[in-house]
Amino acid sequence: MIIILRKNATEENIQAITQHLESHGYGAHLSRGVECTIVGAIGSPESLEMAEHFESLPYVERVIPILKPYKLVSREAHPENSEIPVGPVTIGGLQAVVMAGPCTVESWDQLMTTAWAVKEAGATILRGGAFKPSTSPYSFHGLGEEGLQMLAAARSETGLPVITEVMDTRDVEMVARYADILQIGTRNMANFSLLKAVGQVNKPVMLKRGWASKIEEWLQAAEYIALEGNQEIILCERGIRTFETYTRNTVDINAIPAVKELSHLPVILDPSQGTGKAALVGPVSRAGIAAGADGLIIEVHPNPAEAIKDGPQSLTIETFRQLMAELPPIARAVGRTI
Ligand code: PEP
Ligand code: MN
Repeated sequence: MIIILRKNATEENIQAITQHLESHGYGAHLSRGVECTIVGAIGSPESLEMAEHFESLPYVERVIPILKPYKLVSREAHPENSEIPVGPVTIGGLQAVVMAGPCTVESWDQLMTTAWAVKEAGATILRGGAFKPSTSPYSFHGLGEEGLQMLAAARSETGLPVITEVMDTRDVEMVARYADILQIGTRNMANFSLLKAVGQVNKPVMLKRGWASKIEEWLQAAEYIALEGNQEIILCERGIRTFETYTRNTVDINAIPAVKELSHLPVILDPSQGTGKAALVGPVSRAGIAAGADGLIIEVHPNPAEAIKDGPQSLTIETFRQLMAELPPIARAVGRTI
C-alpha cells in the first residue's frame, strides 16, 4: 500500500508510520516531495486492518492499496484458464457450454419434456431449481428434496449433468448428494457462511454475481470458496440493478472480458435473469458468446405461459432450438465451438 501524508506531517509522524510498518514485518520506502511525503509499504499480504489504522491517523491524507484483495482466483495465481470437468463436459475449455432447463422443477413431466428437448437441441447440462430464492415470501419456493430427486433421475435418464441452487448451509450436504454443480444465487453471493460451506464440498460451484456487487466483490466471494479448498468455481454474470426498469436487470457484458482478465475462472452468462424477457434472450446470448463467455445458462419451459416461475423470460422448446442453431457461427468467429 502507499500512504500519502498530509502536508503538515512532522518527522515524528513519519517515524511513527515506519515503526508501525517495521514492527509488523513490513519495509518502508520514503519518498519526500516538495508538497508531501509518501510512504510505500513493502511486503505482502496487504492488511486491510493496517490500511484502516493509517487512514485513521490525522496526518495521513490517503492510503492506496496496490495488491488485489483476492489471490487464489486471480489470473496472476494461475495464468492458464481453469478447466472444470463436470461428468462428460468441460467448462472453461475451447467449447462453450449451454446449460438449459426450467427455472423451477415443477413436475416429472415438465422436467423430462424439457430435459430431452434441450439435450436434443445441443445443451450439455440440465438446469432446474429445487430450492427457489424469491424476493416475495409468498411465492413458490420449490419442491425441495423431491425436486432434487427428480433432477437426479433426469440425469440418469438423459445423461445430462445437473446444476441446481443451494440456499442454506443446512442443505449443502443434501444438494451436493444429488447435483453435479451447486449454484449460489445472486441473493446469496455475500452469504459468507454459505460460501464457506460450499468451499468444503467436492463438487463444482457456480457463483452468480450479486445484483448490486462490484466485480471485485464478486471475485472476493469466489476467494471465500477457494480458500476453503474448493477451486472448482464457475462465475456467472446474471445482470445487475441499474436505473433501467424496462428489463428485469442490466446484463453487464463488460464483466465477461473483465473477469477473464482478472481471474482464471470460467464465466457463464445468464441472459434469462439478465433480461427478464424471452425476446431478448437470443440476442443477449449471442452477445455473451461473442464477448468470450465460456457458456450460457438459459431458462426453457415447454409452456412458458403456465410456468410457476419466470415464464416471461423462459424460451419455448422451439425458440431454444432456433437459438442453438444461431450460436455456432458466433462461437466460431471468436475461436470457440459450442
Ligand atoms: C435462477 O437461476 O432461477 C435464479 C433465481 O437466479 P438468480 O440467483 O440469478 O436470480
Ligand atoms: Mn429463474
